[in-house]
Amino acid sequence: MSGRMKNTDAIATGEDTVKVRVDSQRCQGHTLCSIIAPEVFEPSEIDGHATVIREDVPPELRAKVAEAVNTCPERAISTF
Ligand code: SF4
Repeated sequence: MSGRMKNTDAIATGEDTVKVRVDSQRCQGHTLCSIIAPEVFEPSEIDGHATVIREDVPPELRAKVAEAVNTCPERAISTF
């Protein structure tokens, strides 16, 4: 086989990236997301509301982010 594999190129150039965000209107500061994925979510020291500190989710953190999405009681986390 010769030639370049386009699908592999697409992944390598980031077309497969996953982004995450927290809806601040919904977030109630339970801090569950930052316990599950502290690499991605940071809780406010004041009220626990989450801030995304790593919007582009690398492959090795996607399972944790998916768990956070499913665990958030307010359904405040979304990926796109
Ligand atoms: S788990 Fe949901 S409600 Fe709790 S801090 Fe995270 S985003 Fe906010």
